[in-house]
Amino acid sequence: MNEITCYHANNVSKDILDDLKHALESTFQGLVLVEDFQTWELPPEAYHGRRRQYDATLLLEFLLEEEPSKNIKLLITTEDLFVPGMNFVFGLAQTRRGAIVSLHRLDTTDFINKEAIHEIGHVLGLKHCQLPCVMTFSNSVMEARQKSSKLCPKCKKTLGMA
Ligand SMILES: [Zn+2]
Ligand SMILES: [Zn+2]
Repeated sequence: MNEITCYHANNVSKDILDDLKHALESTFQGLVLVEDFQTWELPPEAYHGRRRQYDATLLLEFLLEEEPSKNIKLLITTEDLFVPGMNFVFGLAQTRRGAIVSLHRLDTTDFINKEAIHEIGHVLGLKHCQLPCVMTFSNSVMEARQKSSKLCPKCKKTLGMA
């Protein structure tokens, strides 16, 4: 069982967080235990003033390095994220360790849950998938909106799920 320690920044609504916790636990049934969300303060060092975005790589590093733990860490933030070379990213993950997800461009709970499931899928070791699957790589908001919210049978098998 992988325990996920959850954080949120900038007052994400409890309804969104409760729904997300449920979506993660039902998608990765038996694989993850999702703890209640606690607040986390975004480090100003990860903020890029000119872009008005947070550097996702730096933010994830700060998150993982603070109180190192063997639990997976998940951060949900309303701030927009980028990585060098891309205008924005929905989220970023590091295998086995943790992930961050931005709600900035996600306007429905379905969309939010889907992106968080995708990032936690990466944390659990899944790569991008070619089948209709939540692990499909999406290059735009439209592609992301249209992709499946579920794991395909092949990805489930990779995770050792029935
Ligand atoms: Zn991905
Ligand atoms: Zn798949």
